[in-house]
Amino acid sequence: MTATPVSRPCPVCGDAEAADYLLKGGLRLVRCRQCGMVYASPVPEEFVSGTYYDRLGADYYLSPAKLESDFADVRFERELRLFRAHCARGAVLDVGCSTGAFLYQLNKRFPSSYDLVGADASGPALDYAAARGLRVIRGAFPVVDFAGEIFDAVTFWAVLEHLNDPRAFLDKAWSVLKPQGLCFALVPNLQSLAARLLGGRYRYFYPQHLNYFTRKTLLRLVEARFTVVASTCTHFNPVVVWQDWRGRGKDVSEQARAQLLKRTTAYKQNTWLGPVKALYRFVETALSRLSLADNLVVVLRKK
Ligand SMILES: [Zn+2]
Repeated sequence: MTATPVSRPCPVCGDAEAADYLLKGGLRLVRCRQCGMVYASPVPEEFVSGTYYDRLGADYYLSPAKLESDFADVRFERELRLFRAHCARGAVLDVGCSTGAFLYQLNKRFPSSYDLVGADASGPALDYAAARGLRVIRGAFPVVDFAGEIFDAVTFWAVLEHLNDPRAFLDKAWSVLKPQGLCFALVPNLQSLAARLLGGRYRYFYPQHLNYFTRKTLLRLVEARFTVVASTCTHFNPVVVWQDWRGRGKDVSEQARAQLLKRTTAYKQNTWLGPVKALYRFVETALSRLSLADNLVVVLRKK
């Protein structure tokens, strides 16, 4: 399939004036002159429409290594802790739920606390989630008709960076939340230690990521619809830094990504690595305090 490149205005402020930021293979990142947002433009049409994720579904989301790591108990532990601290019960919609692993964990740990719904653009991933008993909603989230159904919380775990128009998704989330409802979002941190050290070598400067947020641009994106309840910075993967430094920016295959996820999960589950994990937690905490960890996470309340 040939993908026709589509030029994008700034996904945060809508301005079209931008300067070159990074070139990596066919990926061109630019920086908005108005608000400083870094984003990809032009991008292949299949990323704009989301059809890419429908096609990719079977070989990446459903690969045994990816499924095994996604459904491991440690995979969403930080997200679950944060979610639980702010939302103890109610109707939850996970947008970009993929195979449903976050909601699966939520239901497993707190069986009678939540009514769960998952939404995604990837048919094969949703088929898998539905087969495991999750209620799923298919298609482009901004135009889904929820027929008046509303939610206590909407989550976007590693989703907003993939979207051509993240504002349309946040507007839709706002419209399906109850008054005072909560929205959780996690995105990669453009100002992370890994991104600063590795620059163009960093594997997450890649075609699937259309938007590259800093804390400032993320807050600017959400401020029209939401007030910020909490804002943190989490996760650090030294194996990624090491591999990408040695790999000199070569493409990392989806299989290799899935294998690494599986290995990282195995490290987290290995009780013999106690002292290493203590050091790791210390480093992660320090990076989080300095806003240098891999991801930015915000908890938002509907205005
Ligand atoms: Zn802008």
